[in-house]
Amino acid sequence: MIDIRENLQYVEQQIQSACDKSGRKRSEVSLIAVSKTKPVAMIKEAYDAGIRDFGENRVQELLEKIPQLPSDIRWHMIGHLQRNKVKYIIGKVAMIHSVDSLALAEEISREAQKRKDIANILIEVNVAGEISKFGVTSDAVLKLAEDIATLPAIQLKGFMTVAPYTENPEENRSYFRKLAQISVDIGNKNIDNRSTCFLSMGMTGDYSVAIQEGATYIRVGTGIFGERP
Ligand SMILES: *Cc1c(COP(=O)(O)O)cnc(C)c1O
Repeated sequence: MIDIRENLQYVEQQIQSACDKSGRKRSEVSLIAVSKTKPVAMIKEAYDAGIRDFGENRVQELLEKIPQLPSDIRWHMIGHLQRNKVKYIIGKVAMIHSVDSLALAEEISREAQKRKDIANILIEVNVAGEISKFGVTSDAVLKLAEDIATLPAIQLKGFMTVAPYTENPEENRSYFRKLAQISVDIGNKNIDNRSTCFLSMGMTGDYSVAIQEGATYIRVGTGIFGERP
């Protein structure tokens, strides 16, 4: 039996302790409950326990879940997004975490403009350079950020990374630190259209370390909802 309330209490304690260790305020870190593959009933339980940010990685699944759940949920698109699916999610998600090409950003801007909306996005960076992962390389981030700044209906809010799977979260510390540094470097360039700096990093295995390195969004699935099939 998965006890979502108890899991959330544990995660909350870990978040607080990582904040204490690094001299950060709890309010600087938002917990996104990653609900992919999990049923609406479980999402409702987390909602009833106070969670309002949920992450999904597939458009179809997201679109099925949205109408079945309260409208004050902030949905986060955290998975790889195909251009032909963009039109379905604009106006429905609070943040797209996984923008990794100009073509995708252009499509998002085009669809947002049609709906007189502004889409909030993060650039996904493959900091560790893993072949199997999506995201732009660290070298390509600045150029992509500058290009995105020229688009009319998009706001670049920060950066996201999916760190390698590891048993030892300390192994990912340098990647989180690097993403934070990329964010500072690009912040110093004063690019237009780029307001606050959100850093989406850290998952069940490594969110404490990510918080110590500056995460503002952590994406926790297994630690809240249990193992996925
Ligand atoms: C599934 C997923 C997560 C959550 O992973 P857990 O290890 O279950 O916490 C976080 N981020 C992304 C992009 C994911 O696809």
